[in-house]
Amino acid sequence: MLPVATEDEKLESVKRTWSEIFKKYGYEEKINKLREFYPGIKSLYISFLHISEFNNEFASYLLAEPEFYLHAAEELIKQDIPLIRLSDSRRVNVRLVDVPARGALVEISDIRADHISKLLTVVGIIRKNTEVLPRLQNAVFQCQNGHTVIVPQARGRVEEPALCDRCAEEGFQKTKFKLLPNESEFVDVQKLEIQENPETMQGGTQPQRLIVIVEDDRTGELFPGDRVVVDGTLVAEQKRAGNVPLTEFNIYLYVNNFAKETKEAASLDITPEEEAEIKRLARSPDILDIFVQSIAPTIYGYEMIKKAMALQMFGGVRKTMKDGTIIRGDIHVLLVGDPGTAKSQLLRYMTEISPRGVMALGKGSSAAGLTAAAVRDDFGEGRWTLEAGVLVLANRGLASIDELDKMSQEDTSAMHEAMEQQSITISKAGIMATLKSQCSVLAAANPIFGRYDVNKDLTAQITLSPPLISRFDVIFKVLDRPNTNRDTSLAEHVLEAHLMGETYKAMERSESPSVVTDEEIKYVPRIPKELVRKYVAYAKEKIVPLLSREATDVIRDYYVQVRNRTKDSIQITPRQLESIIRLSEASAKMRLSTTVSYSDAILAKSIFEYFLSDVATHEGKIDFDVINTGMSKSQRSEMSVVLDVIRELSKSSGFADENEVVERCSAVGMTPEKVNEIIAKMKKEGQLYEPGRGKVKTS
Ligand code: ADP
Ligand code: MG
Repeated sequence: MLPVATEDEKLESVKRTWSEIFKKYGYEEKINKLREFYPGIKSLYISFLHISEFNNEFASYLLAEPEFYLHAAEELIKQDIPLIRLSDSRRVNVRLVDVPARGALVEISDIRADHISKLLTVVGIIRKNTEVLPRLQNAVFQCQNGHTVIVPQARGRVEEPALCDRCAEEGFQKTKFKLLPNESEFVDVQKLEIQENPETMQGGTQPQRLIVIVEDDRTGELFPGDRVVVDGTLVAEQKRAGNVPLTEFNIYLYVNNFAKETKEAASLDITPEEEAEIKRLARSPDILDIFVQSIAPTIYGYEMIKKAMALQMFGGVRKTMKDGTIIRGDIHVLLVGDPGTAKSQLLRYMTEISPRGVMALGKGSSAAGLTAAAVRDDFGEGRWTLEAGVLVLANRGLASIDELDKMSQEDTSAMHEAMEQQSITISKAGIMATLKSQCSVLAAANPIFGRYDVNKDLTAQITLSPPLISRFDVIFKVLDRPNTNRDTSLAEHVLEAHLMGETYKAMERSESPSVVTDEEIKYVPRIPKELVRKYVAYAKEKIVPLLSREATDVIRDYYVQVRNRTKDSIQITPRQLESIIRLSEASAKMRLSTTVSYSDAILAKSIFEYFLSDVATHEGKIDFDVINTGMSKSQRSEMSVVLDVIRELSKSSGFADENEVVERCSAVGMTPEKVNEIIAKMKKEGQLYEPGRGKVKTS
């Protein structure tokens, strides 16, 4: 403490220091402006650097006892505002900028009792916010005899006056009070929940969360998905069981100031040596192979998948067209296939090495699920809470979604928007909000029948709707079929990796020095995880590649060629053209090149071609309609026959009899099973409905 005797003296002394700081660093002009425009301006921003330069000891006290010190400054500023009576607790806010990392920066998971009532800085991502609602600040009460009493309110429960002074003078012992809300003053309050940044977490732990409270003129600025640095005072509030106060307390961070993070977090702490190393790697002619080798080296095979995932980390270029349309740069990848084929392992690995990677299950564990939700829950205390799901939390990063097929109905519809427009719109009960979900999606799905059937179309084997499937740029099937050669190599690879794991375990216990032998080297990622993340963040932040003439030629010619090749079925669409462009841009970014070269385009083409022949084939012919509509052309014409028949039969009565539909279609050579299958499918997709038993109607 400053060496002073009483609270009042301390307050005066602190105020004196503040006014010296204000004078020395030119704050007086700002204060005058605030006074003039109040309540249009309600906050004064003071640089912490000025405070610590002026008096370092004073700065330390401010960190330790922020409420007292900031209150003193606020009192000082309030003095000459005509709108504010001195006794009044109407607010001005002193908000600090440049709060230093020294001592004040705390990981959310490291917050402890010691931090209570201190000034802290936390970094994280906003997960929930509530509506902005007023909180009683200055309560005006009226006593039985009509006198009014003003009671400034602290946080928490309403404080009533004990006795009315005037009544006491008149000899009354007791009076009853009534709150006059219209005369009282309120302050805007918003409650938010902040969560640790996924990348700072120790792998697999539950992210820690903290409730933060924003007041007055800074409410309504933060939304779920925002990455923020928040300064505030940690306040403990007593828990209650009904009316009984408990010894446990809840903690909240009362926000003094916050800033949204705009930089790629991982790129911030790249050292000059690391930057040189990144540039050196980027010049390697086999940089793609180096990346492929750095993705889950203990997982055998999957070269093409690993190539696509490596490019996915970098992504293409997000473009805003002149008319305001946005074309996403993020690349979405889907893995479909047999169980036990390391899909989950690959997803987990990619989450770890990608900047801002978030992993989740399709089922989702919170109300927000994969996308976002507006809920009325305990958190909002009756207010609506907007809660971010995985795709919002992964904004500007990677969302790995395992078991996508188990996704909820609500998510399914929101995913379309999330994956293409990269935003999630919530409109519910008067809440209209659009949250950003600018992330790439890496998803895994299991086939409906347990195993992937290579003789069936992809779309027939997963529960995902065709429009959703078509939003993935590349899709791979991962099969687990006996194949002696592959099985032998895989077994050897896995056994060797396990042996190596055991050796390490044994070495940890003994004192023998660890040496990496030539044998083992292939299981060690050539670029360490941390450097991969930095490399990718660096490229994403610095590089915007442009398509070269040669690359344009390759992509255009390939597109035309594929469209011709698939002429008799219906062709691939410009959507797939965009996918190829994105892949080639990503390849340029990986090389840290500002030009998409001929070879970038060739690589993109080869990955796309692999995907095309891998899953987008129908009975030997490439058929993109399988992806785009879930039906091949032959199925499609069958469907239109059925629809025509139904329309024809509906002409008189408004609906068609199913048996009659089957009969008529049989006449043109369709089997009854086929017709029934098509009817069932159309019912499921909502194209048909049943006005009565055995009857169908087009909707
Ligand atoms: P999925 O999610 O596809 O059902 P998992 O990711 O759970 O499969 O993988 C099951 C186990 O099999 C994991 O321990 C994984 O490491 C192992 N495994 C599967 N395929 C391979 C492979 N190609 N190379 C090495 N290990 C593999
Ligand atoms: Mg799995």
